[in-house]
Amino acid sequence: MIFTNPAGAPELACDECGCRWFDRMTGACYECGAAVAPAARAEFEAALAEFAASRAAAAARDRNQQRGDEDDQGQRAQRPPGRPH
Ligand SMILES: [Zn+2]
Repeated sequence: MIFTNPAGAPELACDECGCRWFDRMTGACYECGAAVAPAARAEFEAALAEFAASRAAAAARDRNQQRGDEDDQGQRAQRPPGRPH
């Protein structure tokens, strides 16, 4: 099964015991030894890729937002932003 952690990132968890400790070399749960189905691993990889893409999009939005704010402040204050004093 796939959990989403508080940061919004997907985490692969054992279908048998629900723990999130996996041996990536063997693809099996550390806790109970259950093997992770290839389909579950593929699903997790897809979820990771989706999360990475959404984070990249959000970061791009944040950069645009910040640039807009700085422009506004510069026009209002009539001085170069970011200088000490
Ligand atoms: Zn397990």
